[in-house]
Amino acid sequence: MKKILQDYSLDELKSQLTELGVKMPRMRAEQLYRWANEYVPFFEMTNIPKDVIELLQLNYDEQPIQIYKKFESKDGTLKYVFKLFDGNMIEGVLMKYKYGNTICVSTQVGCRMGCLFCATGLDGMVRNLSAGEILGQVLAVNHDLGGTVSQRQITNIVLMGCGEPLDNFDNVVKFIELVSSSHGSINISQRNISLSTCGIAPKIKALADLNLGITLTISLHATTDEFRKQIMKIANAYSLADLFEAINYYFKKTGRRVMFEYILLDKNTTVHDARRIKSLCKGLSYHFNLIPINMTPNAKVDPLLKPAGKTKTAEFWQHLKDNNISATTRRTLGEDISGACGQLRRKVIKEGEQ
Ligand code: SF4
Repeated sequence: MKKILQDYSLDELKSQLTELGVKMPRMRAEQLYRWANEYVPFFEMTNIPKDVIELLQLNYDEQPIQIYKKFESKDGTLKYVFKLFDGNMIEGVLMKYKYGNTICVSTQVGCRMGCLFCATGLDGMVRNLSAGEILGQVLAVNHDLGGTVSQRQITNIVLMGCGEPLDNFDNVVKFIELVSSSHGSINISQRNISLSTCGIAPKIKALADLNLGITLTISLHATTDEFRKQIMKIANAYSLADLFEAINYYFKKTGRRVMFEYILLDKNTTVHDARRIKSLCKGLSYHFNLIPINMTPNAKVDPLLKPAGKTKTAEFWQHLKDNNISATTRRTLGEDISGACGQLRRKVIKEGEQ
């Protein structure tokens, strides 16, 4: 199996080239690192000698993920299905905002967390993505949009695609370091990177200890252990008390505002939920993103996932306001192209099987 060029930092590439017996490894590593981040095929790496390219071709994959399909929504959102070297598929989304372009990337093929409202979890876990495969999504889309390393087309990254980022901890941390490196990479500031987790409490603490500049987002979706266990399996391993202990640890260590995601369901939008949110988040700087539920196959049939109606949603807004809870509703982008995580990948795989 070939190694993935984008898995390596500049210093690591230098060691790789030394191992291959390449002369002037520092200079070659800098050239190669730049090309790897431009996401071009070997034959376009014009300043690298032919004999070095031949050696590299034998040992490395320079484009570890390929854009397999691309869909454009009426609202301008682009949805990508990527094919990996082993034939697995993942998906990513490019959302266009006034302040720039945000890419949502996947961190795993599948996911073992099994959240009831999510299409990705339906097929279980297949494998983790390497740091280079996560980075490859950003670089492939930047290249597809006509961007380069010095004139990038992507300004923000959210780790909210298929997979649970903290279940692939080491590769995700390495990805964050690679994508924000200032030495010839696409160099996206950690302040513009957001990581979303379903709540693996010990890993939230481990992340806090690294003191990265990223934003932590918690998929909360319930204010009692009882309901959370019904819709999110992770709640069987970590109670709300465990989760908020970890979040408080994160906040104390980093001083960074914590974001919460909250899908609007009939069962989690009462006045009691608003009061419990207030109490759970005491002492934190935080903000809630309220999300209308996306109609995945489960959401269509499971009564636990019945959406909050218009009146209930309006009342919940008032309850949040009464409790001084900072919240906004997330705009739903790309709905006409299977906007929810995991939906498009499943659709494309199914079509391919027919
Ligand atoms: S919501 Fe996230 S953590 Fe939960 S099953 Fe889907 S991908 Fe996994």
